[in-house]
Amino acid sequence: MTPKISIIGIGTVGQMLAYALAIKNLGDLVLMDIKPGRAKGKALDLAQATPILGSDAKIIGTTNYADIKDSDIVFVTAGKPSEPGQSRDDLLPLNLPIIKEIGQNIAAYAPNSLIINITNPVDILTYILFKVTGFPKNRVMGMAGLLDSSRLKFCLSETLGVSFKSIEAMVLGQHGPMMVPALSKATIAGLPAEAIISSQQTENIKSKTCEAASTIINLLEYESTGFAPATAIAKMVEIILKDAKEIIPASSYLEGEYDQTGLFMGVPVVLGQTGVEKIWQLNLNDDEKLQFKKAAEHLKAIVSSLKI
Ligand code: NAD
Repeated sequence: MTPKISIIGIGTVGQMLAYALAIKNLGDLVLMDIKPGRAKGKALDLAQATPILGSDAKIIGTTNYADIKDSDIVFVTAGKPSEPGQSRDDLLPLNLPIIKEIGQNIAAYAPNSLIINITNPVDILTYILFKVTGFPKNRVMGMAGLLDSSRLKFCLSETLGVSFKSIEAMVLGQHGPMMVPALSKATIAGLPAEAIISSQQTENIKSKTCEAASTIINLLEYESTGFAPATAIAKMVEIILKDAKEIIPASSYLEGEYDQTGLFMGVPVVLGQTGVEKIWQLNLNDDEKLQFKKAAEHLKAIVSSLKI
């Protein structure tokens, strides 16, 4: 049966995601937004591209949650993005009520779906969706790590003058300034990256990766990033629908892994048809472990302040 994929929030990220999914002909699409014209207009625009794309996907735009009924995958891309000078955490008061309402509706209309949250602050709001829906932990995850890792590979590739195809590297932890580029585990064609890059280069690569989104947001001024996040999310859909069991970083619920319990953080996961099938435990170095712990403490403090 053709998979049914719903996207809630058809702004910059949501519409680029819809386009990426339509190009790959990954399933029927429901584009949902509170702005009726936006949902219906974008759906119609995209549907009219399907004869050229050779895609037989059914694409509808809606403001009605009932239309996400029985979705296989639901993406949450609704809410406010950062403006220049605004952190992802600053978005919490605005996006929290939106996410709670969306979670209740996903639980009501698509109780067997797999949820992938994108809305920031992603690790916190993925936790909220997990709590509000009551879904099992394998069916709720946040997308950020695949994007941050792509940015890390991009920076490594630029610095070293080698193709990113020869680079293995992951960013873990928080999607924000406390992210953990796990360079102790990065390899360049089998060689440890740390043996190749100087400590000065390492610092530059880490800060460029960490500031990748704000660099773009400062250029765009009042628009968020879109192409890279949408590409990362579409890749996750492909892995899930093919049951490919690739190991990629995703914000996932931890129960003892990486010495943390009861919160969502970016960790490598085996991704398959049932969602997060397993958390892959890497042996981080002492510095990375400390950074991961600090990020966890930061996230825990925010979660406990919400009294959920
Ligand atoms: P945007 O402002 O362009 O679009 C947001 C959309 O959500 C708008 O169309 C708005 O009408 C809609 N919306 C608001 N409330 C809604 C509701 N209750 N129900 C349905 N739709 C609703 O924002 P954007 O640039 O697409 O970013 C969306 C979110 O994704 C932001 O929080 C941003 O920070 C985040 N983001 C995360 C990542 C990541 O790596 N996780 C990357 C990029 C952006």
